[in-house]
Amino acid sequence: MNHEHGMRYVRVVVDRAIHRELDYSVPEALAGRVGVGSRVRVPFREKSALATVVAMTDQSEAKGIRPIEAIIGEAPILNEHLLELARWIATYYCCPIETVMRSVLPQVIRHAKIGWKKQLFVQPARNIGGAECEKLRRLAPRQAELLETISKLEKPILATELLRQTSLNNQTLRALVKRGLAELCEEAVVRDPHGDEQFIATSNLVLNGEQTRALAEITQALDSPDEARPILIHGVTGSGKTEVYLQAIRAAIDHRRTAIVLVPEISLTPQTVERFKGRFAETQDAVAVLHSRLSEGERHDEWHKIHSGRAQIVIGARSAVFAPVKALGLIVVDEEHETTYKQEEAPRYHARDVAIVRAKVEKCVVVLGSATPSLESYHNAGVGKYRLVNLTQRVDQKQMPLMRVVDLRQERRKGKKAAILSEKLSQAIAYRLEKHEQTILFLNRRGFSTSLLCSNCGETRNCPNCSVALTFHQHFSQGGLDRHVDPMFGRLSCHLCGHTAAVPKKCPACGQDALIYYGFGTEKVESTVAQIFPKAVIRRMDADSMTRKDAYRETLRSFRTGKIDILVGTQMIAKGLHFPNVTLVGIINADLALHLPDFRAGERTFQLLTQVAGRAGRGETPGEVFVQTYTPFSPSIQFARHHDFVGYFQQELEFRERCDFPPFKHAILITVRSAHEGRAKFSGETLKRRLKEALPEEFTLGDATPAPLEKLQGQFRFHILIRGEAIMRLSRLVRETLDNLPFPEDVAATIDVDPYQLL
Ligand code: ADP
Ligand code: ZN
Repeated sequence: MNHEHGMRYVRVVVDRAIHRELDYSVPEALAGRVGVGSRVRVPFREKSALATVVAMTDQSEAKGIRPIEAIIGEAPILNEHLLELARWIATYYCCPIETVMRSVLPQVIRHAKIGWKKQLFVQPARNIGGAECEKLRRLAPRQAELLETISKLEKPILATELLRQTSLNNQTLRALVKRGLAELCEEAVVRDPHGDEQFIATSNLVLNGEQTRALAEITQALDSPDEARPILIHGVTGSGKTEVYLQAIRAAIDHRRTAIVLVPEISLTPQTVERFKGRFAETQDAVAVLHSRLSEGERHDEWHKIHSGRAQIVIGARSAVFAPVKALGLIVVDEEHETTYKQEEAPRYHARDVAIVRAKVEKCVVVLGSATPSLESYHNAGVGKYRLVNLTQRVDQKQMPLMRVVDLRQERRKGKKAAILSEKLSQAIAYRLEKHEQTILFLNRRGFSTSLLCSNCGETRNCPNCSVALTFHQHFSQGGLDRHVDPMFGRLSCHLCGHTAAVPKKCPACGQDALIYYGFGTEKVESTVAQIFPKAVIRRMDADSMTRKDAYRETLRSFRTGKIDILVGTQMIAKGLHFPNVTLVGIINADLALHLPDFRAGERTFQLLTQVAGRAGRGETPGEVFVQTYTPFSPSIQFARHHDFVGYFQQELEFRERCDFPPFKHAILITVRSAHEGRAKFSGETLKRRLKEALPEEFTLGDATPAPLEKLQGQFRFHILIRGEAIMRLSRLVRETLDNLPFPEDVAATIDVDPYQLL
């Protein structure tokens, strides 16, 4: 930072959603301590605000420049690379750089209000004379006793520990300090979320042929990162991708480089963390973990562990892509197809795509891995932008599970109403129970019944704030507490806004006693299975049943140790869990995702079926998967059934090309919303007209239409979808158009670049 000593001005991004960067002067007293990436407090309008320094200059064109007030925290917290990345995100994803900063820097770091946890240590003050002790012994025998212990100390001791050992109290200690006979000092201690766990050191496994080739690709790239292309590992579940990542990280460390591993939040289980911490257990603190369940204090400590260079490996969910490591050598994005990598609030970035850009900025290697790569990534491999590596075999040489498709239409013809368990699936479960093997039943919908319908007038109970039906829950939890509601009554709840309502006895619309429960969710599956198999131990795992803090861990533990026969759940159980004794997986309704108004619906269904199937038959016994569906011949189901990713990819790619969807064209989705329906519509239409004037022919501009989810949390919503190839240019034009179009106060617009949520 020496060269910046003479700089008289700083350019900052204030922590307010404005689109401009502002200049301030640096007072003499602070000169030399500010640099790019420093956090500062500046006068802003009539008040002060926090800000991040993004540049230092010798001159400024701005008028009425005011001085910065103070420096926040100790060292600069943002380096040039991350700043460049933040700027790219702001441009690409069409949002103010300040908003991007909120994701790049955790709040606890930006505000610097929480520091290290300090603890008090005690040490003797000086050589204490015998006479003094004698006097103290008469005056205050307890202080004398404590003093004796302290004077024997070889090194400072934790105050709480000393008091515990001597059974004396704080008052006695304070009195000694006051007499000048003992000293207190503060020292920082690290809040380590995994501090109380022991990690057993593991060593590299001997790789098989395919793994060896995959690792060789990566080490080769590590040797010459300047020319390296991103590497996509397409490896079936259980093909040993994680082992390859572990050895690749080791190689990066050997190159004196650091590594970031991104995993979906849901896969960031204690099991996963243990695998990484265990492999690098020889260096204490080598692995930092970042996820949303950390306390603010823990987040502060993990972040500084990374920033100071003590941790060389970071494993974390989406936002770990911004981990402030230096000398970055490798970024791994596991399960790269996962849509949870997309942040659904501004900045609406996709962590995989940000990882690719960060790798370019910092000249490091990036590895994407998945059993079901996204169309985008696999296409990029196809056209040569990425290098493709295939892992086709499971490490244990086990066969892929047998996939059986059950046609629910035929079940229906047999005279049953909406079947939850087909006869075939029922029989298969019975067989597993007999053999003491385990079953997973999967349904991606919570609650008991999807809706409450009046059989007289046809009205459903809808959410007053959103355009969806309320879901009926037998069990109901709120505020983290499991409230057991009388199953005779239960409660209605909206899965979008959280609105809840009592179950009416009669239809509020027509007054008739004709209400029926319609559709079903995981609760109903659980109770139906319990009726058919009264002796089986059944547990449900979804967002409703897992509100208690340790419920998730506990349930998984009992399942692993065989205390549960059948586990019913939502996507929570679809990912990355290893259970050797599970030989049967039932997918209750494979059509749920297929019929969403979303061009990725087929892709998601294919991915989900393949991932869920990967849960079956990891042990000695081969697995079996039953897929229940009303559309047995849809491509996503048929290709998943034959474990044919490439076949699926080719036909889906054709469809995307015909319709101008990604990966052929980029999309931008603008949502205009307001509590007032007419104003939302009018503003949407005005915006569409302005865009038509602003955008060149090459971009395809759709009309302002009501969103599939017309009303959400009391707001009426209109969509405008734009497609085109030159995404940076499109983003800029959209931003400019919106900036020049003042909406009424109660209308707001959001811009989503490369959207994943089309509702
Ligand atoms: P994936 O990440 O592709 O699902 P994992 O890396 O988790 O696969 O590997 C699946 C299992 O096989 C793990 O228990 C892992 O320890 C084991 N494994 C991976 N590679 C090897 C190997 N080369 N030799 C023996 N076991 C391996
Ligand atoms: Zn609602």
